[in-house]
Amino acid sequence: MSAFIQQFPASTVLGYPRIGPRRELKRALEAYWDGRATRAELDQAGAEIREHTWRRLAELGLEGLPSNTFSLYDQVLDTAVLLGAVPARYRDAADPYFAMARGTDGLAPLRMTKWFDTNYHYIVPEIGPETVFKLDAAKPLAEVRQARALGYETRPVVVGPVTFLLLGSALDRLDEALACYEELLSALATEGVAWVQLDEPALVGDRTPEELAAVRTAYERLGALGPRPALFVASYFGDLGESLPALAATPVEAVGIDLVRGGVPGVDLSGKTVVAGVVSGRDVWRTSPERALAALGAVRAGQVVVSTSCSLQHVPYSVADEPDLAPELRERLAFAEEKVAEVVALARADFRGSVPAGPSVALPAPVVAEERAPYAVRAAAQAAHLRLPTLPTTTIGSFPQTGELRAARAAVTAGTLTREEYEHRVEAEIERAIRLQERLGLDVLVHGEPERNDMVQYFAEHLDGFAVTRNGWVQSYGSRCTRPPILHGDVSRPGPITVRWSTYAQSLTDRPVKGMLTGPVTIVAWSFVRDDLPLRDVVFQVADAVREEVRDLEAAGLSIVQVDEPALRELLPLRRAAQDDYLEWAVAAYRRATSGASDRTQIHTHLCYSDADQILAAIDGLDADVTTIESARSGARILGTVQAFGRGLGPGVYDIHSPRVPGVEEVEELLRGAVAALPAERVWVNPDCGLKTRTYEQVEAALANVVSATRRIRAEL
Ligand code: GLN
Ligand code: ZN
Repeated sequence: MSAFIQQFPASTVLGYPRIGPRRELKRALEAYWDGRATRAELDQAGAEIREHTWRRLAELGLEGLPSNTFSLYDQVLDTAVLLGAVPARYRDAADPYFAMARGTDGLAPLRMTKWFDTNYHYIVPEIGPETVFKLDAAKPLAEVRQARALGYETRPVVVGPVTFLLLGSALDRLDEALACYEELLSALATEGVAWVQLDEPALVGDRTPEELAAVRTAYERLGALGPRPALFVASYFGDLGESLPALAATPVEAVGIDLVRGGVPGVDLSGKTVVAGVVSGRDVWRTSPERALAALGAVRAGQVVVSTSCSLQHVPYSVADEPDLAPELRERLAFAEEKVAEVVALARADFRGSVPAGPSVALPAPVVAEERAPYAVRAAAQAAHLRLPTLPTTTIGSFPQTGELRAARAAVTAGTLTREEYEHRVEAEIERAIRLQERLGLDVLVHGEPERNDMVQYFAEHLDGFAVTRNGWVQSYGSRCTRPPILHGDVSRPGPITVRWSTYAQSLTDRPVKGMLTGPVTIVAWSFVRDDLPLRDVVFQVADAVREEVRDLEAAGLSIVQVDEPALRELLPLRRAAQDDYLEWAVAAYRRATSGASDRTQIHTHLCYSDADQILAAIDGLDADVTTIESARSGARILGTVQAFGRGLGPGVYDIHSPRVPGVEEVEELLRGAVAALPAERVWVNPDCGLKTRTYEQVEAALANVVSATRRIRAEL
């Protein structure tokens, strides 16, 4: 071990946005993927973003600068490359890195999934018997050198061995992976690096005794290496719980603790540096100095460093880029740059930023949600009213969003198209979708959602209590970014939101049109949310707004209303102990949103994923008359799982994520499976998800086959 450990700098952040303040990386990636730019040009764009970041952090007065937090696609994929975990089938691709990330001709990409409970998606490492770990430290070394050439000493950040292997379901390969990490530490020591950050967010989840033993083994072993940089193990997104004593017993020099999500640890860490995450990396609010200083003061450690609770990659760059926001809101906000300034101020202990109090919290007396009648009663009323055939066919809501429509939306914002003209175009698009569905012979129609830029942002724009940003982009995966709305005050609905579009669609046809809404949990999950109220109360406010919209749709003559809840699982707490409570209120909020409908009105819900096992009881608890769910890729498995629901069920019959048009036989096969597993009168026929990313050509061909297959199966019943 190194003879002399350098003191950890007094202030730092665990990571920083890397898409570029104006999404420069997105543009550079797309140019490279389209063949409009060379790899050297892409790398240059990356180098400029890194340089900009270090300069800005240094200007703001931050002392401990991280490096290797940049990524061309994803930091977990970077770690796989670092350790040589590149599956053989990608090695001969023109660009193996992007082949793994996005696939290439004839080669599917690696699987992608959500990073803990965030909306960021990482590439799942594929570690098999043939994987040979072999260090390739080019990227972290290049970043350290680039920063040094600019005059900055940095702390490289790498995903730690336990988290990396848990994400790749390969903790049994710890020994080999550690050999690679040892080699990395030696290389960094040779490079003169003083500190390295190993990210171990997996340690804030429930861990088995074997996994805790792996934590000890890993950090005993890396700690015993010499010479090496000082080790900083960072955790985030919650409490370390049992993992903290395990980690504290090893020779690591610094431990990072999330003091926003988790509490001040009871463990005595006087022999260690604690990197105290007191400035939230998960929200957009200014830090309460009193709370932060109290937390900092309560930590018992050899040294306390002021930091963010996690990487700032989950928040936008700067509030300075938001000239349209109301001043009262702006002064409550802190994005990445402002949060860095807070970290610096707290470290200098001259934090004076007084935080204006949020709006007063006057909750309306909870609406007592009347229960709907039992399903059998509702089903009878709906059947008499709707008169649908067996195996009714429908879609999930959106139809293709054309380039013209997006351009028209941009033109309204730019003031070159009148609102009236825009609304005509939306109506024309609705008519096109309705006529197409009639021609195809679908039973329950949708208006196609042409008025929506996004299923959450659209509602945020029409509800009080929300603001939307101009440049508040946050990376979702690779080049994809979202602009989460900011839920900053009490939510209410000033007037009907979707009613005019749904009634227009219904006026064009005799077949039933489904109203189409986003559920309260999903609206909240995909927004930045005020932190002065329990999340549950915020979700209930949104539920009340959705409830009013459901009632207005019903009053306007819509017989079916779908309330989507694709993010229900996303907000599931990382620790099992907290999950039941969440599911209970999330389900209650959904029922509050939908139970104002009369028995005759059919409520549909839609969830995007098939691995619903964990929240199955909750989905059942939503009590929707019809549940549509992804199943094309998982086949019969999902049917086994959901057949216990005694209500309508639409297992998706084809995967909308691919441009491939499903064949008639293929759909028939799936439907045969469905009617074998479930009573036919409960089965609905629909694609896996919305059609907005497909072209009209693909949609028309696919839906025609779906309708043909349905007719054949009906004839067999
Ligand atoms: N109704 C939405 C659509 O069809 C549902 C999207 C989703 O489930 N993510 O686009
Ligand atoms: Zn979906």
